[in-house]
Amino acid sequence: MLKPGDTIGILGGGQLARMMALAAAPLGLKCHIFAPAGDNPAFDVAAQRTEAPYEDEAALAAFAASVAVVTYEFENVPARTAEILSALVPVLPNPQALETTQDRLIEKRFIRAQGLIVPDFEPVDTLEGLYHAVERIGRPSVLKTRRFGYDGKGQAMIRPDTDLAEAWDQIGRTPAILEAFVPFEREVSVVAARSLTGDVVAYDVAENRHAHHILAETILPANITPRLEVEAKDAARRIGAALSYVGVFAVEFFVAGSGEGEQLLVNEIAPRVHNSGHWTLGGAETSQFEQHIRAIAGWPLGSPRRLGRIDMRNLIGSDADQWASLVAEPGLHVHLYGKSESRPGRKMGHITRVTI
Ligand code: AMP
Repeated sequence: MLKPGDTIGILGGGQLARMMALAAAPLGLKCHIFAPAGDNPAFDVAAQRTEAPYEDEAALAAFAASVAVVTYEFENVPARTAEILSALVPVLPNPQALETTQDRLIEKRFIRAQGLIVPDFEPVDTLEGLYHAVERIGRPSVLKTRRFGYDGKGQAMIRPDTDLAEAWDQIGRTPAILEAFVPFEREVSVVAARSLTGDVVAYDVAENRHAHHILAETILPANITPRLEVEAKDAARRIGAALSYVGVFAVEFFVAGSGEGEQLLVNEIAPRVHNSGHWTLGGAETSQFEQHIRAIAGWPLGSPRRLGRIDMRNLIGSDADQWASLVAEPGLHVHLYGKSESRPGRKMGHITRVTI
């Protein structure tokens, strides 16, 4: 168990690491951020920083020696980096969670093994394999690289007229899965935390709207039935327990069908704090960032109680230019990530309205 004054190591220097470090401070904990050269807004708010590649073994060893525990803000931590660090210091969530969620094929098989539903899928390793997979799964379907996909990157829609060789080229001819297209009613997610002693708290289910494959807005309460709300939280509990997970994670779902036939399909697991949980800053008794720090520190989890109706919007690219009018709105929770350069599609901040 960490004590006030101890230091938490965080891999990654983006906005998630920044908000984790900001949440650690009121608990008397310090953060040491490790990130490769680049725009690292988390460096601005941390007690210590190391700018080095994730492959720099000497820098990793020095980092490990300076912290009581290591966590991360992104799931693509190289396996070798996690291995080097975990030989020296506890890494939480454990590297097994990384292995499971870094690869869509392993992840989907793992989710199925928990008795949960995923869109039908086939592994694809070659163009010939893609032809076979499309024969079985049908069209429309979605071809996704097994690794390194996010915010719709590394994906190709297979429509009735799509040329399969072109789709295979488009994703870079790399190991992939073909997934049935889900004609979903909405997309929802559960953000949950699991403690060192196995306690789980789940935030209410969030409804997420995307624009150009990037999360645009999160609304709570989600427009789903009480049955699905219970099922979604239960799915998160099962996944957390099966991974012996410690920390915050998110489970994203598609809601498909209607009435009695309405069901949840798991889209993916994020082994980290998640954009669809940003509303908890100001919108819940304990933010997801504080919850994550509590969990990896071995402390009791905080209350996930929601404080009102929630509308969280991401500030993408030039949206953040409106900062002066946003900070003038009474009661609006404004978070600007301190990134040095605004680009189209880049997450620059978020705002949350909480209505009682
Ligand atoms: P992902 O990177 O897998 O989360 O996919 C990004 C977005 O693409 C999702 O949030 C959905 O809006 C859409 N998408 C992904 N997979 C499917 C699918 N099998 N059926 C329908 N839409 C999908």
